[in-house]
Amino acid sequence: MFIYARDCIAPYVSKMDEESAMDPAVIKSLFDQGLMGIEIDPEYGGTGSTFFSSILVIEELAKVDASVAVLCDIQNTLINTLLSNLGTPQQKEQYLSRLSTDTVGSFCLSEAEAGSDAFALKTRAEKHKDYYVINGSKMWISNAEHAGVFLVMANVDPAAGYRGITCFMVDRDTEGMAIGKKENKLGLRASSTCPLNFDNVKVPEKNILGQVGHGYKYAIGMLNEGRIGIAAQMLGVAQGCFDHTIPYTQQRIQFGQRIFDFQGLQHQISHVATQIEAARLLTYNAARLKEAGRPFIKEACMAKYFTSEVATLTTSKCIEWMGGVGFTKDYPIEKYYRDCKIGEHRRRPL
Ligand SMILES: Cc1cc2nc3c(=O)[nH]c(=O)nc-3n(C[C@H](O)[C@H](O)[C@H](O)COP(=O)(O)OP(=O)(O)OC[C@H]3O[C@@H](n4cnc5c(N)ncnc54)[C@H](O)[C@@H]3O)c2cc1C
Repeated sequence: MFIYARDCIAPYVSKMDEESAMDPAVIKSLFDQGLMGIEIDPEYGGTGSTFFSSILVIEELAKVDASVAVLCDIQNTLINTLLSNLGTPQQKEQYLSRLSTDTVGSFCLSEAEAGSDAFALKTRAEKHKDYYVINGSKMWISNAEHAGVFLVMANVDPAAGYRGITCFMVDRDTEGMAIGKKENKLGLRASSTCPLNFDNVKVPEKNILGQVGHGYKYAIGMLNEGRIGIAAQMLGVAQGCFDHTIPYTQQRIQFGQRIFDFQGLQHQISHVATQIEAARLLTYNAARLKEAGRPFIKEACMAKYFTSEVATLTTSKCIEWMGGVGFTKDYPIEKYYRDCKIGEHRRRPL
């Protein structure tokens, strides 16, 4: 992973951040390495590995670029998992084989009026003979710029409240679906975040994922395990930033000695190193519990909360330790600082 990230991602990071665009070569290399279908059965072209492996991959990618980690995280821990767990054999054949080889997926829950209160969503799906017609709009949809398939939460029975929420698989080229202009963000700039509009979008009944009216359950489940993915992202950001910074402190001479050798700095460095290690253990523990089929929600929440705080602390401290150059774009430290803000900000794991 280290060599892959160094050779195939690192060279693109600064330009992608500057231009706020994911390079297609990076996406292709993720697919080529089998990193977009980590847990998908090899029968469908996947890597056939584990949830824990996904978490390790997300951490490693985030050390180099959090936007790439988000892309990989959503694909593996949300989209692929939902399809693997809920898809009919036909749906798996049709979608999993694409998701593991060349198709990016997006998860569409949030709306302008339904953020933290996600189940207040207003997008409707009206049943006709053997198809549904979707109308409404979504906001903040990660990876939408490149996605080929969208898992869209829409309500088929508003009178039933959240029990009407249903998950639909919508292909990118479906008539009536429009992807809006991506947001110009503080961090995760290479990760596209777009609004979507659905204007009489006709979706066949066979594109319902799981059961009608069970979308809210699937969303909650995914958001719970998604917290472990976010923890892995934040852990990677903290470690990547720290790893970039320490060598500088070991070279920079002030008052005739390396700044790393000042005890005042060593106290701070050892504190941050310990926090990162604790964040790693919380994250791996939550992943281990999830993989073993044990209760994990509390641990996942703790991992996300703690790693986000550690990432904020680490990136802030690293800028201080680097002095003036840490504040410039000559080093990637300020980017890590911007990229980690989302971890504390988000109530949900997206
Ligand atoms: C970069 C990015 C990528 C995203 N990707 C996706 C995606 O792929 N798919 C998707 O569906 N969504 C996505 N989202 C949406 C994300 O999940 C929402 O932004 C999030 O749920 C918060 O909703 P909101 O922005 O409407 O904030 P609000 O819900 O309006 O929250 C504003 C503030 O109020 C606080 N607040 C809200 N409710 C309470 C409460 N009950 N008690 C105390 N405080 C509260 C919040 O903590 C926050 O501080 C993404 C968002 C971002 C920024």
